[in-house]
Amino acid sequence: MNAFSINSGYPQYSYYSSYNTPSYWQGQPVIPYTEQNDGADNTAKTVGLAALLQAMALGLQKGSQWFAKKLEAGKEFTSSQNVQNIADAMVRKNGLDVTVDYINEANRYKYAAYPNLYNEMGEVAKGRNAFYTDEFKLAVAPKSKPSLILHELGHAANTKNVFMKLLQKSRRYAVYAPMALLFASKILGKPENREKNFIERNAGILGFAAFLPTIIEEGAASLKGIKAAKNFPKQLLQGAMNLNILKRNYLFALATYILAGVGLGVAAKQTIIENS
Ligand SMILES: [Zn+2]
Repeated sequence: MNAFSINSGYPQYSYYSSYNTPSYWQGQPVIPYTEQNDGADNTAKTVGLAALLQAMALGLQKGSQWFAKKLEAGKEFTSSQNVQNIADAMVRKNGLDVTVDYINEANRYKYAAYPNLYNEMGEVAKGRNAFYTDEFKLAVAPKSKPSLILHELGHAANTKNVFMKLLQKSRRYAVYAPMALLFASKILGKPENREKNFIERNAGILGFAAFLPTIIEEGAASLKGIKAAKNFPKQLLQGAMNLNILKRNYLFALATYILAGVGLGVAAKQTIIENS
């Protein structure tokens, strides 16, 4: 699912789990099991675990799609004019140097010259995505779903904070967590009298931890958007707004990121198992 990203790098589960053993590790000696029977039991266990992890990865993907659909079907919390006014206030208040735009099929081609944004802009026009890119200082949301812009401007505001910006930048490296953990595990080797080292035992949680900064930054962006709507002067609102709808939509979006984090944990575990 692509909804609600800050760039095109939103990881799909399939990216994580398709790692092969790099050739430079294949010469490593395999540590044999001490007893034959234990070896057979362990092989059966490993096969069972691998199947379980595969089922989990599929389940997570389905779950993520479910939340993405809910987000796609979510109503707008107020009129598009109100959203635009709140967004403008957010830009002013945070001193953001950001181009804000609402995309449909008629105006998406304005950005045709931006490298790498062409396909994404198409998704935005269809109402399936919104994004902020720090590279081009550009925040866009679908014209049909303008309320997503407040979250994207939350990302833009996050770049003003050194710590939050760091969390945001970590996203591009998170997908390499399974490989990095495998590499670290090979360096670590096997502890004496134990079958598994620390990384092998905790691959799942370590993989999830690699995505945690992204989840936190996503949550912070949503909170900034919600706060901007909440603090917008009531006398300037034209017609009603229902903040609960906004909170609900943003929760669905966050849920997809949490599931992606769990997915990365599963992928890390899979990578370690396949290569041990
Ligand atoms: Zn986001």
